[in-house]
Amino acid sequence: MGGVLVILEAIGTDLAAISRELLGKGRQLADTLGGPLAALAIGPTTSVAAQAGAFGADQVYTVQAPVLAQYTTDGYVAAAMAAVQTCNPALILAGSSFQMRDFGAALATDLNAGLVVDVTDLQVVDGALQATRPSHGGNVINTYRFAAGKPVVALVRKQSFPEATAQPDRSVPITELTISDLTPRTEVVSVVPKAGAVNLTDAAIIVTGGRGLGNKDNYYRLIPPLAEVLGGAYGASRAIVDDGWVPYEHQVGQTGKTVSPKLYIAAGVSGAIQHLAGMRTSRTIVAINKDPEAPIFRIATFGVVGDVNEILPLLTEEVKRR
Ligand code: FAD
Repeated sequence: MGGVLVILEAIGTDLAAISRELLGKGRQLADTLGGPLAALAIGPTTSVAAQAGAFGADQVYTVQAPVLAQYTTDGYVAAAMAAVQTCNPALILAGSSFQMRDFGAALATDLNAGLVVDVTDLQVVDGALQATRPSHGGNVINTYRFAAGKPVVALVRKQSFPEATAQPDRSVPITELTISDLTPRTEVVSVVPKAGAVNLTDAAIIVTGGRGLGNKDNYYRLIPPLAEVLGGAYGASRAIVDDGWVPYEHQVGQTGKTVSPKLYIAAGVSGAIQHLAGMRTSRTIVAINKDPEAPIFRIATFGVVGDVNEILPLLTEEVKRR
């Protein structure tokens, strides 16, 4: 047993960012563990299988079958088992989405493997795999060390690791695996995309406004325009969602979305513990608040003490100008 297997995800015809991140970290861990870096594309994601080679995978497997057209636990676990039996990895990596949590738990059970979700760091320490994950709203950081000799399934939070560097000329053979006929115990009856859904969790840049914006009109005048020029999404504290300024889909925090973008701008947000629970793992945090004692400054990478009404328009104009 050795090496790493990454379960690939696709967005349209592209390898999802989380998969590029896992291939980057997977490469490093596979080198330390002394095994190959393998990647598995299941069902519709087989269209992006070739991209995994360009992002560093040594072996790429695909599994195509009518039963895999839609996600089902049984179908995806059967596909993963086919790859695991072929490459016998010490570590299986996937994103920590709702679907992958369902899949990862079932796969770990079938493999009698260790499972850790919501991972933000992975290392090999004294030959053993060590995973870090936050809990209790981000206030506790847990470190797990796994005994050698059994595989581990680790589901990783988006944007925890840098993406693998693309090597466009690199290609590796793709091996098609098969699974036996199976009737999943669940059936997908319909998939209905929600109209106007807000993809905050995938955004690399988020601009969030809070009660310091003063009112709903100010929020829409100042926050979405900055998010737009930065190519990001806009978020909100619960205080202003509860006040009806912004729909719940934009709420960040313990009872809203958990986000981990490359850049998080918090404007007029005090930094209550429940808000921090949803964004404290962001890579760079910029806080704008007129109160120098605001708790948000304790976790901010950069802090601006000032009035959002003055700073946000200047920032938006400056970004536009560049
Ligand atoms: P405030 O706390 O009122 O802060 C406004 C900030 O704006 C202040 O720091 C002030 O100095 C600053 N300010 C004012 N005027 C200006 C100006 N002109 N320029 C610059 N700065 C200015 N909250 C969440 O966000 N997400 C959650 O998911 C969440 N879940 C919760 C779950 C539970 C069970 C509970 C009890 C609470 C939860 N909360 C959550 C609420 C949380 O405790 C806070 O009440 C909320 O985050 C405060 O929002 P805010 O920072 O926008 O407002």
